[in-house]
Amino acid sequence: AEEYLSQLYERIERGKLNAFTTLARETALREAKSFDQNPGKGLLAGVPIAIKECISTKGIESNCSSRILQGYIPPYDAHVIERLRAEGAIIMGKTNMDEFAMGTSTETSAFGPTRNPWDIDCVPGGSSGGSAACVAGGEAPCSLGSDTGGSVRCPASFCGIVGLKPTYGLVSRYGLIAYANSLEQIGPLTRTVKDTALLLEVIAGHDWRDSTSAEKSSYLPDLDRGIYGMKIGIPKEYFGEGVNEKVEKSVWDAISVLEGLGASWQEVSLPHTQYALAAYYVIAMSEASSNLARFDGLRYGLRQAGEDRDWHTTFSEIRSKGFGPEVKRRILLGTYALSAGYYGRYYLKALKVRTLIKEDFLQAFKQVDLLASPTMPIPAFRIGERINDPLSLYKADIFTVPINLAGVPAISLPCGFAGQLPIGLQLIGPHFGEAAVLQAAQAFE
Ligand code: GLN
Repeated sequence: AEEYLSQLYERIERGKLNAFTTLARETALREAKSFDQNPGKGLLAGVPIAIKECISTKGIESNCSSRILQGYIPPYDAHVIERLRAEGAIIMGKTNMDEFAMGTSTETSAFGPTRNPWDIDCVPGGSSGGSAACVAGGEAPCSLGSDTGGSVRCPASFCGIVGLKPTYGLVSRYGLIAYANSLEQIGPLTRTVKDTALLLEVIAGHDWRDSTSAEKSSYLPDLDRGIYGMKIGIPKEYFGEGVNEKVEKSVWDAISVLEGLGASWQEVSLPHTQYALAAYYVIAMSEASSNLARFDGLRYGLRQAGEDRDWHTTFSEIRSKGFGPEVKRRILLGTYALSAGYYGRYYLKALKVRTLIKEDFLQAFKQVDLLASPTMPIPAFRIGERINDPLSLYKADIFTVPINLAGVPAISLPCGFAGQLPIGLQLIGPHFGEAAVLQAAQAFE
């Protein structure tokens, strides 16, 4: 374990990916050494893992790739970290992300963009770009990310690896620094489906500290069951206009492969898809504006001694310096959507649309077992290409955000290439249908 881990650290240092923001080299190597002397029996005994910056790790900086939290060292572990440690995993370090998980490219990080290992001039996707790039680039065997509107699946798709967003409530959010808590889940990023199933087995399950968390089932025993007889729905709204031709072709090829493995497919409709982006961004920004109010420099981060003046001046100065432009934009828009007079027009409306979108999925799953679609309408784009055009970035989330609004699980799997850039296939299941999603993914792989 120690030798393997040292090799990973060497690779990180030699590389140009900027996937890691904080390395826990000393403690990790110590843990690896003690594992070598006395190997444990956990499901992940001696396995190094990289963790997204927004997941709290006791004694290791967790800064959400934001200046406002730079230097913040949590005094406790997130639930998922406790579970990983209990199974013998070794936390190697923290990975770069879009600031507070707001983004699709990892370019809004305060610590510079992460690069895509397949083409270092391209983005790795986001917001868990560091977690995906380090796995795809051979700097870590596996990682955890968080997915509020696609942040695990988008970078998995852009980096050609496997990424799963679990059903809302399957994995405890205790210790996940919140962006939009009604939408997000922590999920694994790995090179194989089996590794994703293994990590899910470890991190899922009830935790009394997250009131939305539920009991889990088992994912490993039936992983190889295959998909003979499974019915796969192809949502017609997820193909056509705006989808890159190569992406569309690779996904149809993947559907033929699933058919060859014994599944059947039929077209289905998710009629409210066109309203998903608008509803998602209103809800996510509203929740963000409320969640991020705690970063006032008094309780967390960035306050410098001797600088204190009256409350408003200090509060504004700290937040002006601490937050980047995308975070500020979202706090402003979210505050507006929640303000008296506009609440009913925007926020409440978005919640109603959310119910309709969830209803679309419930109806579809009366006809089919799983849904298949592209994860992203496009392959990775060049660094800098879209950063000044937030709307074009938001639009790229069109096939990932409805899944978070509905709370259902979805996985992204590599299914082809556009030139040298990977393409992702998204398989979506009904609530708590992870076992079937993983079986289909395993069969496809
Ligand atoms: N790109 C989406 C957003 O910016 C999703 C981010 C996420 O899942 N954290 O909100």
